[in-house]
Amino acid sequence: EKTPVTMLGLGAMGTALARTWLAAGHRLTVWNRTPARAAALAAEGARVADSAAEAVAANTLVIVCLLDDSSVDEVLAGIDLADTDLVNLTTSTPAQARARAEWANERGARYLDGGIMAVPPMIGVPEAGSYVFCSGSRELFERHQETLGIPAGTTYVGMDAGFAALHDMALLSAMYGMFAGVAHAFALIHKEDIDPTSLAPMLADWLVAMAPAVHQTADHLRSGDYTKGVVSTLAMQVAGTPTFLSTAEQQGVSPELLSPYFELMRRRLAEGSGEEDLTGVINLLVH
Ligand code: NDP
Repeated sequence: EKTPVTMLGLGAMGTALARTWLAAGHRLTVWNRTPARAAALAAEGARVADSAAEAVAANTLVIVCLLDDSSVDEVLAGIDLADTDLVNLTTSTPAQARARAEWANERGARYLDGGIMAVPPMIGVPEAGSYVFCSGSRELFERHQETLGIPAGTTYVGMDAGFAALHDMALLSAMYGMFAGVAHAFALIHKEDIDPTSLAPMLADWLVAMAPAVHQTADHLRSGDYTKGVVSTLAMQVAGTPTFLSTAEQQGVSPELLSPYFELMRRRLAEGSGEEDLTGVINLLVH
């Protein structure tokens, strides 16, 4: 028989996850604070528990996908977790994940933390390339890898329970940087007779073309030599920043998204790093 699954939390994400186990033929027990949200899954064959405690007691593998760490606290408070394989897919900070792992272990549970790199429509769609970062108990990960791999791929990133959250935050932080740049780009054309839908494909292709730069950054960090393979020197790039700022001004666009990054570039150049490219900005961020 396929591993039976308990799912706590039937929000947009929890429901999407739960549905894939049902579809794959796993017995599924669900619980949600607002019971009405379980109705659709019940109709598809899920067993609806009357309480979180009852749902936890039903199966060894318990998957949690709630709003945030404090809702996990509220839901699991006072519940017997002995011998439970607890997989927490609730987004949290690395510190919260580590504390949650310790908290679970103290209660006799094994613990795996997860960070979901997908939005709900990508769950259960293998070609969407979505996956879940997992960290914590390797034994638990290996035991349930097949079951955990049903809604999305799995990428185990270490025994430190905080690493899934850290990887999740690293990727999403980079995403916000990208979105910030995209916002500025569209703002630059807003008052012109340029169709945003004509800029969009060029913008998307350009971001994809630039994305491999992350490998050079990683090589620089690993070797400590920030000048290797550099084609666009920091000196050249800083010399170009007034062009960007003047263009923004001419287009009536606030430079507030670009300026902080340019300021870091300028400071790194002032340290005598003109032959590097942008890797050295990282040194200014960490303390
Ligand atoms: P929703 O807002 O759709 O659902 C939140 C869930 O948490 C509901 O089941 C809600 O119950 C429950 N909940 C909130 N507070 C409490 C509480 N105090 N006690 C009990 N239950 C509570 O969120 P999602 O399902 O979208 O997200 C769930 C997790 O998945 C989050 O950590 C999110 O960051 C993560 N995630 C979501 C993504 C997305 O695009 N949606 C992408 C990647 C990760 P009730 O129905 O009773 O309100």
